[in-house]
Amino acid sequence: MRWQIGTAAIELHQGDITDEQTDAIVNAANAELAGGGGVDGAIHRRGGPAIMAETRQRYPQGCPTGSAVISAAGKLAARHVIHAVGPVWQGGTRQEAERLAGAYRRSLQLAVEHDCASIAFPSLSTGAYGYPIDQASRVALTAVRDFLTEHQRPELVRFVLFGPAAFGEFLAAMNELSGTAA
Ligand code: ADP
Repeated sequence: MRWQIGTAAIELHQGDITDEQTDAIVNAANAELAGGGGVDGAIHRRGGPAIMAETRQRYPQGCPTGSAVISAAGKLAARHVIHAVGPVWQGGTRQEAERLAGAYRRSLQLAVEHDCASIAFPSLSTGAYGYPIDQASRVALTAVRDFLTEHQRPELVRFVLFGPAAFGEFLAAMNELSGTAA
Protein backbone atom coordinates (compact mmCIF):
# COMPACT_ATOMS: atom_id res chain seq x y z
CA MET A 1 0.00 0.00 0.00
CA ARG A 2 1.49 3.30 -1.13
CA TRP A 3 0.41 6.91 -0.72
CA GLN A 4 2.18 9.30 -3.09
CA ILE A 5 2.72 12.80 -1.75
CA GLY A 6 4.32 14.84 -4.52
CA THR A 7 7.68 13.18 -5.22
CA ALA A 8 7.69 11.41 -1.84
CA ALA A 9 5.70 8.40 -0.70
CA ILE A 10 4.40 6.65 2.40
CA GLU A 11 4.30 2.84 2.32
CA LEU A 12 2.70 0.36 4.68
CA HIS A 13 4.39 -3.00 5.22
CA GLN A 14 3.76 -5.83 7.60
CA GLY A 15 6.89 -7.27 9.22
CA ASP A 16 9.79 -6.85 11.60
CA ILE A 17 11.48 -3.45 11.49
CA THR A 18 14.93 -4.91 12.21
CA ASP A 19 14.83 -6.54 8.72
CA GLU A 20 14.52 -3.17 7.00
CA GLN A 21 17.23 -1.92 4.63
CA THR A 22 16.09 1.68 4.62
CA ASP A 23 18.76 4.31 5.35
CA ALA A 24 17.31 4.83 8.82
CA ILE A 25 15.09 2.77 11.06
CA VAL A 26 13.26 4.26 14.01
CA ASN A 27 13.34 2.77 17.47
CA ALA A 28 10.40 3.09 19.89
CA ALA A 29 12.71 4.24 22.69
CA ASN A 30 12.07 5.38 26.25
CA ALA A 31 13.16 8.78 27.59
CA GLU A 32 16.14 7.27 29.41
CA LEU A 33 17.31 5.50 26.20
CA ALA A 34 17.74 2.58 28.58
CA GLY A 35 16.60 -0.22 26.31
CA GLY A 36 13.43 -2.22 26.84
CA GLY A 37 11.16 -4.77 25.21
CA GLY A 38 9.26 -4.59 21.95
CA VAL A 39 10.97 -2.75 19.12
CA ASP A 40 13.72 -1.48 21.42
CA GLY A 41 14.70 -4.97 22.55
CA ALA A 42 14.70 -6.28 18.98
CA ILE A 43 16.89 -3.42 17.68
CA HIS A 44 19.50 -3.75 20.41
CA ARG A 45 19.55 -7.55 20.13
CA ARG A 46 20.16 -7.54 16.41
CA GLY A 47 22.18 -4.34 16.21
CA GLY A 48 24.59 -5.30 19.00
CA PRO A 49 25.98 -3.32 21.94
CA ALA A 50 27.58 -0.53 19.89
CA ILE A 51 24.23 1.24 19.56
CA MET A 52 23.65 1.65 23.26
CA ALA A 53 27.31 2.45 23.88
CA GLU A 54 26.93 5.37 21.45
CA THR A 55 23.64 6.68 22.82
CA ARG A 56 24.98 6.51 26.41
CA GLN A 57 27.97 8.56 25.41
CA ARG A 58 26.22 11.10 23.17
CA TYR A 59 22.94 11.49 25.05
CA PRO A 60 23.61 10.89 28.77
CA GLN A 61 20.48 12.88 29.62
CA GLY A 62 18.32 10.66 27.41
CA CYS A 63 15.72 12.21 25.11
CA PRO A 64 12.56 14.13 26.00
CA THR A 65 9.16 12.67 25.19
CA GLY A 66 7.98 13.91 21.80
CA SER A 67 11.49 14.13 20.37
CA ALA A 68 14.21 11.86 18.93
CA VAL A 69 17.98 11.39 18.72
CA ILE A 70 20.15 9.57 16.17
CA SER A 71 22.95 6.99 16.32
CA ALA A 72 24.73 4.55 14.02
CA ALA A 73 23.02 1.20 13.48
CA GLY A 74 25.61 -1.37 14.60
CA LYS A 75 25.11 -4.66 12.81
CA LEU A 76 21.74 -3.73 11.32
CA ALA A 77 21.38 -3.17 7.58
CA ALA A 78 20.25 0.44 8.09
CA ARG A 79 22.84 3.23 8.36
CA HIS A 80 21.20 5.00 11.28
CA VAL A 81 18.89 4.23 14.16
CA ILE A 82 16.67 7.13 15.18
CA HIS A 83 15.54 6.73 18.77
CA ALA A 84 12.10 8.34 19.04
CA VAL A 85 10.30 8.77 22.35
CA GLY A 86 6.54 8.66 22.04
CA PRO A 87 4.22 9.41 24.97
CA VAL A 88 2.76 6.95 27.43
CA TRP A 89 -1.03 6.92 26.89
CA GLN A 90 -2.75 8.58 29.84
CA GLY A 91 -6.26 8.86 28.47
CA GLY A 92 -5.61 11.47 25.79
CA THR A 93 -5.67 14.62 27.89
CA ARG A 94 -1.92 14.99 28.49
CA GLN A 95 -0.91 16.25 25.04
CA GLU A 96 -0.31 12.69 23.89
CA ALA A 97 -1.29 13.43 20.28
CA GLU A 98 0.98 16.49 20.06
CA ARG A 99 3.87 14.54 21.58
CA LEU A 100 3.36 11.56 19.33
CA ALA A 101 3.34 13.84 16.27
CA GLY A 102 6.47 15.55 17.62
CA ALA A 103 8.33 12.24 17.85
CA TYR A 104 7.53 11.52 14.18
CA ARG A 105 8.42 15.06 13.04
CA ARG A 106 11.75 15.16 14.84
CA SER A 107 12.65 11.72 13.45
CA LEU A 108 11.95 12.93 9.92
CA GLN A 109 14.00 16.09 10.48
CA LEU A 110 16.96 14.00 11.69
CA ALA A 111 16.63 11.72 8.67
CA VAL A 112 16.74 14.71 6.30
CA GLU A 113 19.68 16.26 8.17
CA HIS A 114 21.58 12.98 7.75
CA ASP A 115 20.74 12.62 4.04
CA CYS A 116 18.51 9.59 4.45
CA ALA A 117 16.38 9.00 1.38
CA SER A 118 14.39 6.31 3.17
CA ILE A 119 13.22 5.71 6.73
CA ALA A 120 11.17 2.98 8.40
CA PHE A 121 8.97 3.59 11.44
CA PRO A 122 7.26 1.17 13.80
CA SER A 123 3.95 2.26 15.27
CA LEU A 124 5.35 4.40 18.12
CA SER A 125 3.66 4.24 21.53
CA THR A 126 1.16 1.49 20.64
CA GLY A 127 2.85 -1.37 22.50
CA ALA A 128 4.01 -1.02 26.08
CA TYR A 129 2.98 2.67 26.06
CA GLY A 130 -0.66 1.77 25.46
CA TYR A 131 -1.66 4.39 22.86
CA PRO A 132 -4.82 3.12 21.08
CA ILE A 133 -3.68 2.22 17.58
CA ASP A 134 -6.80 3.53 15.81
CA GLN A 135 -5.91 6.99 17.10
CA ALA A 136 -2.11 6.60 16.93
CA SER A 137 -2.23 5.53 13.27
CA ARG A 138 -4.06 8.73 12.31
CA VAL A 139 -1.68 10.92 14.28
CA ALA A 140 1.30 9.13 12.72
CA LEU A 141 0.09 9.32 9.13
CA THR A 142 -1.05 12.94 9.48
CA ALA A 143 2.31 14.00 10.93
CA VAL A 144 4.24 12.25 8.13
CA ARG A 145 1.91 13.53 5.39
CA ASP A 146 2.27 17.11 6.62
CA PHE A 147 6.06 16.82 6.83
CA LEU A 148 6.31 15.36 3.31
CA THR A 149 3.94 17.94 1.90
CA GLU A 150 6.22 20.66 3.23
CA HIS A 151 9.66 19.13 2.61
CA GLN A 152 9.25 16.36 -0.04
CA ARG A 153 11.93 14.42 1.84
CA PRO A 154 12.74 11.69 2.82
CA GLU A 155 11.63 10.21 -0.50
CA LEU A 156 10.31 7.06 1.14
CA VAL A 157 8.68 6.74 4.57
CA ARG A 158 7.73 3.16 5.34
CA PHE A 159 5.64 2.05 8.29
CA VAL A 160 6.53 -1.49 9.30
CA LEU A 161 3.61 -2.91 11.24
CA PHE A 162 4.01 -5.94 13.44
CA GLY A 163 1.16 -8.29 12.55
CA PRO A 164 -2.09 -8.10 10.57
CA ALA A 165 -4.11 -6.19 13.17
CA ALA A 166 -1.70 -3.25 13.26
CA PHE A 167 -1.36 -3.33 9.48
CA GLY A 168 -5.16 -3.26 9.12
CA GLU A 169 -5.46 -0.27 11.42
CA PHE A 170 -2.88 1.72 9.45
CA LEU A 171 -4.45 0.69 6.16
CA ALA A 172 -7.87 1.93 7.28
CA ALA A 173 -6.36 5.19 8.50
CA MET A 174 -4.44 5.69 5.26
CA ASN A 175 -7.52 5.02 3.16
CA GLU A 176 -9.46 7.54 5.18
CA LEU A 177 -6.80 10.25 5.10
CA SER A 178 -5.86 9.81 1.45
CA GLY A 179 -9.46 9.83 0.33
CA THR A 180 -9.36 6.31 -1.14
CA ALA A 181 -12.42 4.21 -0.46
CA ALA A 182 -11.63 1.56 2.16
P1 ADP B 1 6.12 1.67 22.86
O1 ADP B 1 6.83 1.50 24.19
O2 ADP B 1 6.45 2.98 22.18
O3 ADP B 1 4.67 1.40 22.96
P2 ADP B 1 6.72 -0.99 21.74
O4 ADP B 1 8.03 -1.42 21.19
O5 ADP B 1 6.25 -1.65 23.00
O6 ADP B 1 6.81 0.59 21.88
O7 ADP B 1 5.59 -1.19 20.64
C1 ADP B 1 5.38 -0.34 19.55
C2 ADP B 1 4.73 -1.11 18.42
O8 ADP B 1 5.71 -1.86 17.72
C3 ADP B 1 3.68 -2.13 18.86
O9 ADP B 1 2.56 -1.99 18.01
C4 ADP B 1 4.37 -3.47 18.68
O10 ADP B 1 3.46 -4.51 18.34
C5 ADP B 1 5.30 -3.18 17.53
N1 ADP B 1 6.52 -4.02 17.43
C6 ADP B 1 7.10 -4.80 18.36
N2 ADP B 1 8.21 -5.40 17.88
C7 ADP B 1 8.34 -4.99 16.59
C8 ADP B 1 9.28 -5.23 15.53
N3 ADP B 1 10.33 -6.06 15.70
N4 ADP B 1 9.09 -4.61 14.34
C9 ADP B 1 8.05 -3.78 14.14
N5 ADP B 1 7.13 -3.50 15.09
C10 ADP B 1 7.26 -4.10 16.29
